[in-house]
Amino acid sequence: MTLLDGKSLAEKIRNNVKLDVEELQKQHITPGLAVVLVGNDAASAAYVNMKSKACKEAGIYSVVHEMPETISQENILDIIAMMNRNPNIHGILVQLPLPNHIDTTAILEAIDPTKDVDGFHPYNVGRVVSGLDGYIPATPYGVMKLLEEYNIDPKGLNACIVGASNIVGKPMATLLLNANATVDICHIYTKDLKSHTLNADIICVGVGVPNLIKEDMVKEGAIIIDIGINRTESGKLVGDVDYENVCQKTSFITPVPGGVGPMTIAMLLVNTIKSAKNKITKA
Ligand code: NAD
Repeated sequence: MTLLDGKSLAEKIRNNVKLDVEELQKQHITPGLAVVLVGNDAASAAYVNMKSKACKEAGIYSVVHEMPETISQENILDIIAMMNRNPNIHGILVQLPLPNHIDTTAILEAIDPTKDVDGFHPYNVGRVVSGLDGYIPATPYGVMKLLEEYNIDPKGLNACIVGASNIVGKPMATLLLNANATVDICHIYTKDLKSHTLNADIICVGVGVPNLIKEDMVKEGAIIIDIGINRTESGKLVGDVDYENVCQKTSFITPVPGGVGPMTIAMLLVNTIKSAKNKITKA
């Protein structure tokens, strides 16, 4: 079994981002990322904090627009419109989830697609599905980079994606399909999850249920990508895979923490740099 070490690959990518920033600065461009954070959710605040810290370390300018839980949709749209116009901002992301009274789709659609570094705008979703250049959502993008780093070619593999959200499962399925895997997508209403996972050469799980994937659900030599992030009662960070019992059956597996999580942050920085570079080519 080989560990897919997202922590060290992310570090390597972040060092390259730093070099890219230095190059851009020679052309008087400092890449800028704006983050919208609504409400007091502790996990969201922690993610935003990590993203801001990573930007700072890489030399990317970052600004966080913190808004109260009660903010109106119009006020959020105003801030997004302002950032769309701001030439010093190359990437805009809205930390999800948003409070229930806000229409998430309307907010995501308001972001200028050329600054949509999270890749959640339907314009970028469509481009990525079509295999065209566009912003790829950071988490599945990070998974693909990890596979590439370990010379794992998805071509011809049976892939089982567990979890079908717009931000994790669906784009993960798209990227693996575009890489010529045969893709099965499972979710909460899937009848017999085990029958799908057992058939898989590669399982990508992003659900938010600790120990969902157990030893008897995994075939010998499978590749396991654990995207889930859960905190146990004792405060330990775990994924969606029963790691202790599953790992010996696998050929490759991501640890939690230290697998997909660090890759997500690294790829967000990569997308922000891409936007800043696009600005030069379009100038
Ligand atoms: P979500 O709630 O939007 O979607 C969860 C998906 O899992 C849904 O499609 C649902 O149908 C499915 N699901 C739920 N219970 C299931 C079950 N018992 N069996 C099969 N499918 C089930 O969540 P999300 O935003 O996609 O996040 C999923 C997980 O990934 C969470 O743990 C989240 O913290 C984590 N996450 C990690 C990263 C990272 O960087 N590693 C990034 C984003 C999300």
